[in-house]
Amino acid sequence: MKKLYSVFILILLVSLFPQSLSPQRNLKILSTVILDAGHGGKDPGAIGVNKTYEKDLNLKITLKVKELLENNYKDLNIVLTRSDDTFIELQERGRIANENGGNLFISIHCNSKKLDDPEQKTGFEFYILDPKRLDKHLELTLLQNLFLKDIKRNEEDSTINFIKASSFIYSNYKYEERMAKILVKEFVKETGLTNRGIKQEPFVVLYGASMPAVLVECGFLSNASDEAYLNSEKGLNNIANAIYKSIRIYKMEYDFENNFYK
Ligand SMILES: [Zn+2]
Repeated sequence: MKKLYSVFILILLVSLFPQSLSPQRNLKILSTVILDAGHGGKDPGAIGVNKTYEKDLNLKITLKVKELLENNYKDLNIVLTRSDDTFIELQERGRIANENGGNLFISIHCNSKKLDDPEQKTGFEFYILDPKRLDKHLELTLLQNLFLKDIKRNEEDSTINFIKASSFIYSNYKYEERMAKILVKEFVKETGLTNRGIKQEPFVVLYGASMPAVLVECGFLSNASDEAYLNSEKGLNNIANAIYKSIRIYKMEYDFENNFYK
């Protein structure tokens, strides 16, 4: 009951004063973007109907997004969790993001339907965390997040820990939802793929990063048409452009809001 009451107060506070609970309130601009190419090394990720390895496409897209950002921003710090075919643990990806002070974490993947799923799936979708499943998030966030190290030290006061961790999750959620909506628009504009929308799943890689984090599923390798598109230079460029333009729009809004709209 005490927990429920705390959540209620928290939701009220976040909706009335969203800025006041933002962990980024001291940052003026979005200065560091973390690009996370999913899988790598011994972990190929999904394998396409025509044997494309997801890890290779994820890296190609990531490197293209990095190049676009570098060509268009002089003052933006772009950090990659991997820049070659290396295996990186999920927790390590979050650690890299946190240590580099990332303001936005984009995890880049390609999808595959489950083998026993009779439905032929196609298109892109985006994943963010679901703050309604707060207890699960808190458990993982408290365990994994470097940002919350100071909270761990005060473990005797679990109510304060709970409120701090909740406010952290809720304030990131606002930004994650915004970024995911921008990504939907840009993917619709740039790619000819089907829009499968924004979904909420407790992916470990999203918990590890203490900043707004979105996981991008670019298309289905279990679908021959999606796979061919993802393998083509045009497809890779369109997808990289969609991610790049989304970061650009998000940064513009974020920088404006944090400098002029307080
Ligand atoms: Zn993947």
